[in-house]
Amino acid sequence: MSKYWNELTKRIEPYVAGEQPKDKKYIKLNTNENPYPPSEKVLKAISEANNSDLRLYPDPDCDKLREKVAGYYNLNKNQIFIGNGSDEVLAFSFLTFFSSDKEIVYPDISYSFYPVYADLYGLKTRLSPLKEDFSINVEDFLSNNGGVIIPNPNAPTGKYLDINSIKKILNYNSENVVIIDEAYIDFGGQSVVGLIKDYPNLLVIQTLSKSRSLAGMRIGIALGQEELIEGLNRIKNSFNSYTCDRIAQVAAIAAFEDEEYFKECSNRIINTREKVVNKLTEIGFKVVPSKANFIFVSHKEIEAQKLFTKLREKGVLVRYFNKPKINNYLRISIGSEEEMDVFLEKVMEII
Ligand code: PMP
Repeated sequence: MSKYWNELTKRIEPYVAGEQPKDKKYIKLNTNENPYPPSEKVLKAISEANNSDLRLYPDPDCDKLREKVAGYYNLNKNQIFIGNGSDEVLAFSFLTFFSSDKEIVYPDISYSFYPVYADLYGLKTRLSPLKEDFSINVEDFLSNNGGVIIPNPNAPTGKYLDINSIKKILNYNSENVVIIDEAYIDFGGQSVVGLIKDYPNLLVIQTLSKSRSLAGMRIGIALGQEELIEGLNRIKNSFNSYTCDRIAQVAAIAAFEDEEYFKECSNRIINTREKVVNKLTEIGFKVVPSKANFIFVSHKEIEAQKLFTKLREKGVLVRYFNKPKINNYLRISIGSEEEMDVFLEKVMEII
């Protein structure tokens, strides 16, 4: 605390990201990173872009990348917004579409950055309690809100919300923006990008951090009708013209050009997930059905926090949230086959 801080800085509770340990080498299953490297094509594009042009500013509008994404999703370039990771896109979206006079609604258990943005911008919030099985209470979103945000699949539960429920929410919220945060959509869910043409209130946010192995490059995307994207650009250009650097832009373009590799890695992760789920269920774990690159689990005999600590001692990092309703669960990112074999071996030793 410093006397030089303003009231907001004193009051704000910043988001705490999953640990990036420096003490020793862990099997890292705590931040939902992809265990597989970026595509060879991406790495090649990055080394080619590593040249004297770096003295020049990047394209502030990310035109080539937006064209690429638009082509990929059958949209037009003006329906695409690029940011420095989807966290930044989320931060801009809260600022662009939500205002302090009406409550924004999101599930009580969801991405823990949402309350931080809401607090930062002085927004009122209403939390919709998840059902016992961690599914979303759609009815809670069918009212006149100041805005809605839902991760799909949800984080940290991995639970997927079907497209008809999302349509219902969109229909009831025609006066405000509904953000669907699809950070984990490529691991078995169906994106709602196809609904954009019918819903001017729909903003879809995606990231290249998970399914495209580019967490280190910081590239996030928003997709929506032109009016929404224009709004995002007004806010972004009142903040920082160049949020996405030259290297990130070419890397992202190359990532969208290697569909085969993307599919191969995503499928591998899905297959590994299903194997791990089966094994954990066999040894007494309750596993929430997941369509993400992580699973949310609890064991009837060993407390989650204890298991977290013991796994850490054995060199495996997972994520524990000391929060009501989920403080006996662990979130485990799906690593490579080999990493998950070691994880299972350590779990067996502990229980
Ligand atoms: N949304 C959700 C639901 C997430 O879990 C994450 C990752 N922490 C993000 C968005 C942000 O990811 P990134 O900024 O790496 O795109």
